[in-house]
Amino acid sequence: MNTISVNNYSQLPYTNSYSPYWQGGVEYPYYNQNREERVENPAKTLGLAALLQAVAVGLQKGSEFFAKKLEAGKEFTSAENVNKIADSMIKSNKLDVTVDFIDHANKYRYSANPALYNEIETVANGKNAFYLDEAKLAVAPKTKPSLILHELGHASNSKNFILKMLQKSRRYAMAAPMVLLIASKLLGKREDGQKNFIERNAFGLGFAAFLPTIIEEGTASLKGINAIKKVPQGVLKGALNKNVLKRNYLLALATYVIAGLGLGVASKQTIIENS
Ligand SMILES: [Zn+2]
Repeated sequence: MNTISVNNYSQLPYTNSYSPYWQGGVEYPYYNQNREERVENPAKTLGLAALLQAVAVGLQKGSEFFAKKLEAGKEFTSAENVNKIADSMIKSNKLDVTVDFIDHANKYRYSANPALYNEIETVANGKNAFYLDEAKLAVAPKTKPSLILHELGHASNSKNFILKMLQKSRRYAMAAPMVLLIASKLLGKREDGQKNFIERNAFGLGFAAFLPTIIEEGTASLKGINAIKKVPQGVLKGALNKNVLKRNYLLALATYVIAGLGLGVASKQTIIENS
């Protein structure tokens, strides 16, 4: 049994989940918002606002679709093999990390920390996996052990200065709409009455804020997949279908790309509503 001391985190931990919608146990704030219609004038603006709202809803649906596919995804090999690959990954990257596979029988060992326990509950339900850098803890559902390889990819990334910066950026990325709005107000209106740079590029700038997260997520998955071939020959027994793992990780990445697009839409919406 592992003894895990993760009781010092009073706040909700920032975790690296395999899907952004379980980030911190809450859905992203920019979806499902009943936005006030503060459109001063033309039908054109109203039309664009409605279109953006429709796109936001579409993205939400798309993300749910991929998340469901991922949930229903098969395991690419036995739990035993996953354990061996994880061990090899930890050794070859000299990772300082506690690995734990969660189910409803063992989840209680985290109950001393309510914020963390909330996250652990979703893991026990097979709906999340995460790496918590502050606690050097990587967890995956007992029913979906293969997700641990991606989380160990995050653990490995946290040892690289640049990748760690990308990893940390996600906690600020969600502020993009507000930051862009403030920046746009500071820039002010152009003398010729045209939109300023931020007003014109709000979508791209919002998406760009999430791009570091998408890149870091993709890197974590690649490291997990590549770890398979680093295991010495003969160690892994029985069936092993790498394509199944690749498909699962691709589905997870898709939810992050959609989250980035959603942040772009939210940025555009914020600018339009306040101009
Ligand atoms: Zn991840």
